[in-house]
Amino acid sequence: MENGSERWHVRVNERLNKTSETTIRGTLAKINRNLNKDDPRPTVPLGHGDPSTFPCFRTTPVAEDAIVDAVRSAKFNSYVPSVGILPARRAIADYLSRDLPYALSSDDVYLALGCSQAIEVILTVLACPGANILLPRPGYPCYEARAEYLQLEVRHFDLNPKKGWEVDLESVEALADENTAAIVIINPGNPCGSVYTHQHLKEIAETATKLGILVIADEVYHHLTFGRNPFVPMGAFGSIVPVITLGSISKRWLVPGWRLGWLVTCDPNGILRKLGVVECITGCMEMASDPTTFIQGAIPHILEKSGEDFFSKTIDTLRVAAYTCYDRIKEIPSIICQNRPEGSMFVMVRLDISSLEDINDDAEFCLKLAKEESVIVLPGAAVGMRNWLRITFAIDRSALEDGLQRIKAFCQRHAKKK
Ligand SMILES: *Cc1c(COP(=O)(O)O)cnc(C)c1O
Repeated sequence: MENGSERWHVRVNERLNKTSETTIRGTLAKINRNLNKDDPRPTVPLGHGDPSTFPCFRTTPVAEDAIVDAVRSAKFNSYVPSVGILPARRAIADYLSRDLPYALSSDDVYLALGCSQAIEVILTVLACPGANILLPRPGYPCYEARAEYLQLEVRHFDLNPKKGWEVDLESVEALADENTAAIVIINPGNPCGSVYTHQHLKEIAETATKLGILVIADEVYHHLTFGRNPFVPMGAFGSIVPVITLGSISKRWLVPGWRLGWLVTCDPNGILRKLGVVECITGCMEMASDPTTFIQGAIPHILEKSGEDFFSKTIDTLRVAAYTCYDRIKEIPSIICQNRPEGSMFVMVRLDISSLEDINDDAEFCLKLAKEESVIVLPGAAVGMRNWLRITFAIDRSALEDGLQRIKAFCQRHAKKK
């Protein structure tokens, strides 16, 4: 076809073509396009995990003031080392060491543009020809999208909903081979709202060391727990297996737009250095963009001065939201929730498709729900589990109640007639 493009010698990277089908943002954009613009009711966003627009999830003034002071000081207007400025690295090392049986050094810490860039860096470091990585199912599709782009083979192990979404360690052992580089653990869990016990994390560490693979611990929801199990960092088992901890201030401080995260080597035995991983992380960081300098400059103050009252208020709000969500879902026909969420901002629920009329799968459920009820929910297929749904409860209380009420009305309307 003649469209005037023939004379250009430009080809594009075709590995990027499918990204919008595999990412959460792409899936949600598609569902958003299905909203009925004539519905006078406000849209209820139960699809994505960003509560920062709700007044009850505003960050602490301590953090806001730290940013203002950093900007006003005029000390943070320059380019900085690619691994991050020393005071910020030291502050993060001290902050994380509070929960560890050994002390991290500032050299263990690399600053990143949110946890997302930390994911990108570690997968890039491990993406050798032929290598593979073990990812959880359900999981966080950012890993799959990045691995696919890097041509790093992905092997999925299952999380078991009947056992609090614990890792099926037997399937992990069956999947790993001599080309496996690492296993990814997301705790507290997105999308499951699970929080692993000390014992389970230790078993994961023991399995990984037996297999000779690293553990990548995505702890972006660190300390956002409100159930039986306290948060235990994977790094606590760093003497059993080398752990690479990924995190950020996005979720605990409710500021995902500030884009400040970290990659931390929790490896008191120095194995990662011997393997050349440390050198490659530094090399990768040199190519990457750096987090904004004044955000780096504010980090020591944010980490050291944010008060317990702010954290406990967030936790209390999340707990009430999570428990409300769980109780309301129990009243909804066709949706089954096995585990009350104990951490993060999400719950995974199963759809009983056979009880619904004119809805064939989770994707269709979410498209029709958007159109008829102006409620956005993420289809489970987007996180690896067809005919499940991921629901965010980290929104304003009245909007949450409203959204769940509309889902109930929707399910009742679409129930098979007996
Ligand atoms: C939100 C999220 C991230 C990304 O965090 P940012 O700091 O916003 O880049 C990474 N992993 C998981 C599991 C998340 O839910």
